[in-house]
Amino acid sequence: MASGPLLKTAAAATLLLAGCGEPAPAAGPPNILVFLADTLRADRLGCYGGPQQTSPRIDAFARQGIRFAHATAPSPYTSPSHASLFTSMDPAVHGVWNRVLLPSGEPIFPRLAEGSTTLAEALAAAGYQTAAIADGGNVSEARGFAQGFQHFESKFRGARNRVDRALDWLEQCDPAKPFFLFLHTYQTHTPYLPDPVHLEKFADSDYQGPLREAWEGARKKASQGPIRNAIKSIQKEFFRPLLPEEGSPDPDDLEFLRALYDAEIAQMDQEFGRLLDHLAARGLDENTILVFTSDHGEEFWEHGIYGHHQVYEPTVHIPLIWRIPGNFGNRVREDSAGLIDLMPTLLDFASVAHPPRLQGKSLDPLGAEAPPGRVLFSEANWPEAQIAWREDQHKVLLFPDSQRRPEAFDLALDPGEINDLSGSQEASDLLQRAARSLEEWKTACLAAQTELGIQPAVRNLDQLTPSQRAELEALGYIGG
Ligand SMILES: [Zn+2]
Repeated sequence: MASGPLLKTAAAATLLLAGCGEPAPAAGPPNILVFLADTLRADRLGCYGGPQQTSPRIDAFARQGIRFAHATAPSPYTSPSHASLFTSMDPAVHGVWNRVLLPSGEPIFPRLAEGSTTLAEALAAAGYQTAAIADGGNVSEARGFAQGFQHFESKFRGARNRVDRALDWLEQCDPAKPFFLFLHTYQTHTPYLPDPVHLEKFADSDYQGPLREAWEGARKKASQGPIRNAIKSIQKEFFRPLLPEEGSPDPDDLEFLRALYDAEIAQMDQEFGRLLDHLAARGLDENTILVFTSDHGEEFWEHGIYGHHQVYEPTVHIPLIWRIPGNFGNRVREDSAGLIDLMPTLLDFASVAHPPRLQGKSLDPLGAEAPPGRVLFSEANWPEAQIAWREDQHKVLLFPDSQRRPEAFDLALDPGEINDLSGSQEASDLLQRAARSLEEWKTACLAAQTELGIQPAVRNLDQLTPSQRAELEALGYIGG
């Protein structure tokens, strides 16, 4: 095992011994709490320049912390991004896509290989109490995400309930040992079902179009008790029939849909604030590293479609904010960061050695900015294969399985990715660099997969026919 760098600053080393109860007198590893708001694009938060008052608590939290202005998700989907957070591997290595289509067109649903070493496993081995309180869907045991968590629960219940459950867990855990708590909510994922008090802040009260009726109907249905496969079924019944597959919706409908999304952010923000208040009331803010982030964003037809399927900025630019005990607040880091960096960074704070071949790097939030020139990738596999190569403000989009030509953007000048530079002289060097580093990255991913023996397993393997199994093996997936 490679040894990770230990705490680099004296300030970080003075973190008090963690534990669920009173801080103990000796120095020791800090508690770690990662709060992940699923499907939260950075630019709707006030601290990331959002135009609405969606996030007063998160904004205040950012002023107490270190905000990474340019954090990138490794994919626009839940399963691969979570697998990357938990293993510091890109999806090209861990293979845990939301779905993989067989050549026959049938979908399969990979799960994390048991041979992977997760953040929770590494911390548990170092004496941490580990728990995940997640909001159902793909953040599930079936995807292998319980690996390393001593307590794992995942049910679609919304942010209020998930924060309640997290507080319950904090109450009962052992104050003599540090904890790692992963808290996930789908509050900002479809179906958008915000409370009226939040929607009123953002929606035009005169709007009486079909989406208001859908919101009312969906809320009524959701209030009648747990629904099987609720995330998909409510969206499919109430909202999807009203949203165009291609081309943007009626402007009033679009405005209301955005208001629903902003209202969900405000509702999640309130619950995040409640968590902060609880940590402060119990003195846990004194010895807990708290990370606020997301797994991907959401696109509202800026690049042709709705949802999270592509690798343009609305879906891969995520919030990433750290609060480190001590007085380190109100900093903005302009260097590149990725969700794959959480694991090595947190392991450093916990003084735990890194497992081999992590693709992320320690962000050293208390240190200086990293030098420019770091390359990060984001990848989509369905419905269209897309790869985003990013080096500082430069971004190239590649479409490996289609005839679409690459696109190139300067995000500093063009954050909306409207002005494709790919036909220009300026971009030709960029495209060459991207193509070269893509080849190097693919080779490195394959080598990591081979060396670590990572072959994602597939759910319901016993139900596959021999020909389906053969197709899977050809794609690099075998049972585990
Ligand atoms: Zn997600």
